Amino acid sequence: MKQTFADREKFEEIAARYGTPIHVYDEKGIRENARRLNRAFSWNPGFKEYFAVKATPTPGILKILKEEGCGVDCSSLTELMLSEKCGFSGHDIMFSSNETPVADMKKARELGAYINLDDYTHVKFLNEICGIPESICCRFNPGGVFSVANQIMDNPRDAKYGMTRGQMKSAYRDLLALGAKNFGIHAFLVSNATFNEYYPMMARQLFTLAVELHQATGAHIEFVNLSGGIGIPYYPDQIAPNIEIIANGVREAYNEVLVPAGMGDVKIFTELGRYMLGPYGCLLTRAIHEKHIYKEYIGVDACACNLMRPAMYGAYHHITVLGKEDAPHDHLYDVVGSLCENNDKFAIDRELPEIDVGDLLVIHDTGAHGHAMGYNYNGKLRSAEVLLKEDGSTTLLRRAETPEDYFATMVF
Ligand SMILES: *Cc1c(COP(=O)(O)O)cnc(C)c1O
Repeated sequence: MKQTFADREKFEEIAARYGTPIHVYDEKGIRENARRLNRAFSWNPGFKEYFAVKATPTPGILKILKEEGCGVDCSSLTELMLSEKCGFSGHDIMFSSNETPVADMKKARELGAYINLDDYTHVKFLNEICGIPESICCRFNPGGVFSVANQIMDNPRDAKYGMTRGQMKSAYRDLLALGAKNFGIHAFLVSNATFNEYYPMMARQLFTLAVELHQATGAHIEFVNLSGGIGIPYYPDQIAPNIEIIANGVREAYNEVLVPAGMGDVKIFTELGRYMLGPYGCLLTRAIHEKHIYKEYIGVDACACNLMRPAMYGAYHHITVLGKEDAPHDHLYDVVGSLCENNDKFAIDRELPEIDVGDLLVIHDTGAHGHAMGYNYNGKLRSAEVLLKEDGSTTLLRRAETPEDYFATMVF
């Protein structure tokens, strides 16, 4: 059974104080997880996690991660501005963008961020608009498929990101000629990977490429950025990835590939989003209607505008009916929001305890790519975000949108 990070009493208190729907984050869980990650990779003195801001672009969250030693990974002008406002600067920022607008690139350069070039043509693009920094990163796309034990996990060949092997070499040569001194390699091949082999297998590929690039061009490889992609167990019977096993797998590849090549000073970076925040946030919503037609429906006060993943990807998010954790799950419900869109369903044919109007529901694992993917369709307003602190008190991280916010950009 999936546990909630607070009990019914606490969630009722939060609902009474701030209203529902609301995204709630668990400070203790966030900090403990960040410490576990940093400990697991502490064998690499240069290790740094650059939290993928897009997953949870909330200042109160970014500040907690900053205190835990994390940097930020941005991909747009406003994400860079947000990070600057939260006190990040220089090499605490990774800028991993694609199809990058000029203004975004300029801002990244102005902040002194590590710039991760998505394409070979971006060498010229960056050089023309603001020059080449001393440290620069290139994103690699190996093509083909990424498979583990003959099972295809993802399809890099079909992804729009990154450069081919040949382009990586050309980019490094051009960048060296333009004055770059230190190089990074980045790749993101599988999303929400819950198998422990993902990072170690990709790391081995990237380390091998790093040695090749170093030997072919003489470039000094400063870091290998394993990016995001470590998954979380959304389903109750799924096993969580084991970060110690993952980090040790990366270490083995490091010792076997980089160290013998005299490259034992390469820093390991990550850009995890989902893994850092996913399990440590939930969407708290109240059942406001029940409907009995050809199926049984429970209408809640949240909708896909508060959490898009089920509507967009058919993603599973576990649901706990607070106070009924131990009741028999003998009802089959569709748990739905109020959009005039039939895909606005948090759960379809889900076995749950009998739900009464007024019950509070926790929709699990919404801490990453949850509130962040919110939108205003049907005139729906995005909810507040609140932090459950380590001492059990709560603090508002973002207020709910109001009709005034909704009207603010309209020209009447
Ligand atoms: C989305 C993204 C991440 C984070 O992905 P997660 O699946 O949340 O770990 C990291 N880096 C880049 C470049 C991304 O686009």
